[in-house]
Parts: sequence; structure tokens; C-alpha cells
Amino acid sequence: MEVRTDQPAEPEGKVVKTDEEWKKLLTPEQYAILRKSHTEAAHGQVYKQFKEQGVGSYHCAGCNALLFTSKQKFDSGCGWPSFYDPAKAENVILKKDITLGMARIEVVCAKCGGHLGHVFEGEGFNTPTDQRYCINGGGLVFVPAKGDAPAKDEPVKK
Ligand SMILES: [Zn+2]
Repeated sequence: MEVRTDQPAEPEGKVVKTDEEWKKLLTPEQYAILRKSHTEAAHGQVYKQFKEQGVGSYHCAGCNALLFTSKQKFDSGCGWPSFYDPAKAENVILKKDITLGMARIEVVCAKCGGHLGHVFEGEGFNTPTDQRYCINGGGLVFVPAKGDAPAKDEPVKK
């Protein structure tokens, strides 16, 4: 997962690019996830990285839109970065996805249309929403919070 120390600027409107432009802008991993709906390996390097990250915000690697923060992060144990809610609802779109013979809800960046992951609910996690946004960390950019402010909201554990 890409890490940046400066807060990226939010996109002002929809971000529309050609496939060629996306290929140039994104790393091969980011391109595969965001533009080709690839799912990264569970329990991989990105997941390890995610679990070790402290307070900060998670942005779309394609367009910088704010998607999640460490406040909504929780440890689901599923092998992918998990959040119980988006940080900014208007930056996320939910779509019905019936690929792979399953009825799932796809999570898409509202600004650039990038594929982020899926959302599942009713799994019984002890979180405020009972939803699990199961997100490919490789499609995110993590921006650590400035300073060493202690976390007010500890990640929720099952
Ligand atoms: Zn985006």
C-alpha cells in the first residue's frame, strides 16, 4: 500500500481518464485492482502493513478521494483491510455484483469509478454498523496523521 506523508487534495469532480492514462498513472498493482477489479491475495504483505498502521486516513490511489480513516478500521481477521463504514459516504458507491456466481455488493470510488472491494453485512462483528467493507489495500493510499496524537478510537476487536 502506498504511503504518503502529505494530505492529498480531494478531487473536485469526477475523475475520468482513458485506460492508457490509468496505466501510466498507477502502479501495476493499483491498476489491476482499481481498473480491472482484481482482488489482492488475502493475508498478504498489504494486510500486514494495514494492521501495523496507526492513526491516519485512507485515500483512493486513483484520484485521492478520502475513503476511510483509522477510526472506521477494525480487525476482522479476514485477510483484507476492513472498515465498518466509509469516512465520507459521498465518495463511495455501492453496486450489485453478480460475478463469480455470488451476489455481492461491490464498493466503488464515486470519483474515479475505481474498484475498491466488497461490503458484507450481518456477520456479527462488534462494530457500530455490522458491516464489513472488505477493501483491497493495494488500491489505497495511507496518509498517517500528523504528530503523535494518541488514537481516540481503538480498532474494534471481535
Ligand atoms: Zn478514486
